[in-house]
Amino acid sequence: MRISKLCSVTPSRTKAGVRKTPGRPARPGQSDGVDPVEVVCRLRPVPEGEERCVEQLDDTTVLVTPPANSQAFRYGTAKEQQYKFGTVFPDTATQKQLFDAVAKPLVRDLLNGKNGLLFAYGITGSGKTHTMMGSQQDGGIMPRCIDVIFNSIVNYQARRFVFKPDRLNSFDVQTEADAMLDRQREILNTPKPGKTPRKRRVPPTPGGAGGGGGSGSVTPDESDAASTRVPEVSQVSGLDEDNAFAVFVSYVEIYNNYVYDLLEEVAPENMKKSLQSRMLREDNNKNIYVHGASEVEVSTPSEALDALRRGQRRRKVAHTTLNTESSRSHSVFTIRVVQAPLDPRGEEVLDDKALMVVGQLSLVDLAGSERTNRTKNNGDRLREAGNINNSLMVLRTCIETLRENQLNDANKMVPYRDSRITHLFKNYFDGEGKVKMVVCVNPRAEEYDETIHVMKFAELTQEVVVARPADRPLDMGIGLTPGRRKANQILREAQRRLGSDGRPSEAEPSGGEAAAELAPVFCLGPVWPSMAMTPGEEEETVRCLVRFLERRVQLRATLLHELQRQQDAFRQLLVKTEMEMSALRQENAQLRASSDGSSRRTAALEARLASAEAANDSLNRRFRELNENQAALVNELGEKEMLLNQEALERERVKQRMKTRMQQEKERLASDMKSRIKMNREMLKTEMRAKDEKLRALRDIINNEEAGFAVPSAPPTPAPRPRPSTANETATFRPSRSDPRLSGTPQPKRTVAATTRHRRSKSTDAEVWLDHRPGHVLELATIFQPKMKKRKSVTKLDAKDVINDKTSKYVLTHQDQDSQGEVETHMVKGDVLPTVGGGRAVVFNDMETLRLSNPGAKRPSDELGPGLDYELARERCATGIEGHAAGKRRKT
Ligand code: ADP
Ligand code: MG
Repeated sequence: MRISKLCSVTPSRTKAGVRKTPGRPARPGQSDGVDPVEVVCRLRPVPEGEERCVEQLDDTTVLVTPPANSQAFRYGTAKEQQYKFGTVFPDTATQKQLFDAVAKPLVRDLLNGKNGLLFAYGITGSGKTHTMMGSQQDGGIMPRCIDVIFNSIVNYQARRFVFKPDRLNSFDVQTEADAMLDRQREILNTPKPGKTPRKRRVPPTPGGAGGGGGSGSVTPDESDAASTRVPEVSQVSGLDEDNAFAVFVSYVEIYNNYVYDLLEEVAPENMKKSLQSRMLREDNNKNIYVHGASEVEVSTPSEALDALRRGQRRRKVAHTTLNTESSRSHSVFTIRVVQAPLDPRGEEVLDDKALMVVGQLSLVDLAGSERTNRTKNNGDRLREAGNINNSLMVLRTCIETLRENQLNDANKMVPYRDSRITHLFKNYFDGEGKVKMVVCVNPRAEEYDETIHVMKFAELTQEVVVARPADRPLDMGIGLTPGRRKANQILREAQRRLGSDGRPSEAEPSGGEAAAELAPVFCLGPVWPSMAMTPGEEEETVRCLVRFLERRVQLRATLLHELQRQQDAFRQLLVKTEMEMSALRQENAQLRASSDGSSRRTAALEARLASAEAANDSLNRRFRELNENQAALVNELGEKEMLLNQEALERERVKQRMKTRMQQEKERLASDMKSRIKMNREMLKTEMRAKDEKLRALRDIINNEEAGFAVPSAPPTPAPRPRPSTANETATFRPSRSDPRLSGTPQPKRTVAATTRHRRSKSTDAEVWLDHRPGHVLELATIFQPKMKKRKSVTKLDAKDVINDKTSKYVLTHQDQDSQGEVETHMVKGDVLPTVGGGRAVVFNDMETLRLSNPGAKRPSDELGPGLDYELARERCATGIEGHAAGKRRKT
């Protein structure tokens, strides 16, 4: 028996394609409809004379009566109660009756690719194991299911290892060659069965295919038992005969909320070590399965039952070894039937997961539902019992929540994950298959208190509805001819018959691997007749020989003719082929030429591409360089700008410093000047005082003299004609009316004293003056105006004004303000003399300065005191006009 390390305990149908596996659980009402969980009740026989608390009223009703010794009776809460079920099986009901009513529809579903869950619920000793397993002679639900499955698919079974579990709760299809290799490997690895030959109830001849090797050894005991076993003979009809079927079983035990694999091949002495719990996982279709549990392919009912018994043996050994109670564990036996369509020839299975259909039936023998305190356990046992009840409690809670959700249209979370057993069955309750429950009842009065709980739970469960899995037609609708398998069988039969008619025996269909073709027979005839010349029968012998030879000659001629015909046909074929070949050669040459051209073009294009790429690369490089340069320059620019800014700042700072220093210098100079002026003034004052003294003395003398002689007061005013001025001469000082500064001032009669040192104007009639007045000159109309008979006035000096034979004199007049703000007129005079080079030179020899002063304005001289009379001031003004000879030369 082959074991693969995978066990699936949840519904799983292969996805996609025509048959879509519902990955998500369908909610009630979303699919074809809903079915309530079907609950039946089975009463076990009670020994004669024992008191009963449960009586069957009719096919669906039981009456539970509290016995006098029950707790409830003592507490006074007890009352007679009726409970209704789908069916109530009396203690006389046979295993077959129960199977036909409860399990057979599930087997039909299974073979049609649907899932089913059947569990037995009840207290310990109520007949759960009896119902599920039964005895050797009278099997329970499990062996009967196996029988019916194999009875139904016996002619449509795939050969071993064609379907192979993929360890992810699904299956792969192997090729016939791979499957054969696996079969050989299995035969080599299986230990010899020993003396006792294994008996096969059903010869495995599915589609002419042989079943393959057997599984583990069977003890003589069991073998005898198997021989006395009465198998279930019924079957399910209406399967798709063009599908190939395979059956896989797994068997797990859930104990203390741990999942153990019962089909793992372990020696009993290693049992303790090897007990390793398995994880529950979710596959791609959201189905929960036991990851890593063994899934065994079984080809016959006995193989399946072997597996079942092996699991039970292991369970027993494990519980003995570990000193635990097997009635406190749940066992889950799962049968998976995989089917997939045959290929168009009806030979092999199509390797298309989308076309594969997997149905699954889980048969569960639950732990005893009695409460912990009933069994007087302690220590470990107590924990186990607690856990068992706990997982059954979770089952109860799940059922209650489901019922509540369905009644109130609520969406409360169902706590499937709180225990392994409910987690494993989650998909069923979510609508992945049909759920049925057999409630086993021991009607003994002693069990009343526990029986009431069982009844209540059963009643509750019946109210839960589960979505009905959608009916899916098994015809895959892939367009394959129906009846492929049959056609293939007929062909094989024909071949076999042909082989027995004198053909070499290799055509014998051994395991269906015969050659398929039926070739014509080329033979000169039957064997030669006897040629023994027995006296008297020579003629007959010869005649017979002649007939034989004639037939042979005729046959030879026919064959020769046939040969000729075939030769001709062959020749024609050859010629045709030759022609075709030459045409093909030609075509080939053309194609090669064009291909060469193409490859040349390709090469050229590739070269161009390469050069373009190179150019592109270099451009890229250059671009990068330029970018770098630019970045560097930008950096540099930034630095420079920073420097410039710094410099400007520095300049500004220096400027500021200089300004401050200039200001300081100015102030210093101003104070310096002030002190000097003050000093000078002091000096002048002293001098003036001295002069005043002298003048007074002089006046005194004059006065004294006047007292002696009469002196004419002043000489008469000189003639207007200019003449060399003397110290006594006075001039009327009239300021220009156009001078705004002077126009508003009172115009006292002023006289200016001229120095006798200078001749006022030496001009003669022969002289021609060049009167140069750059800018605006105030006309002062004083007596100091030089007499220039002939003159030319210019504001801007031109060379030709000087360089001519006429001009002999030059005067430059300019005005500015003196330190007191008065007008000061300078007249610089010179002779224009011819030079050796033919040019002219001006030799300055005289300069006159005319100062105007306003006696009304406050002047520093006022500080002399109010006692200074007008005459004195006039005198002083006169001394202000003086001329200087200047030796400056200006070359024109
Ligand atoms: P459970 O598995 O619920 O603990 P069992 O199936 O082991 O109970 O049954 C206990 C005993 O009662 C077994 O010896 C079994 O043969 C017997 N028994 C239970 N149900 C029936 C039945 N319907 N007919 C005959 N014997 C039964
Ligand atoms: Mg049991």
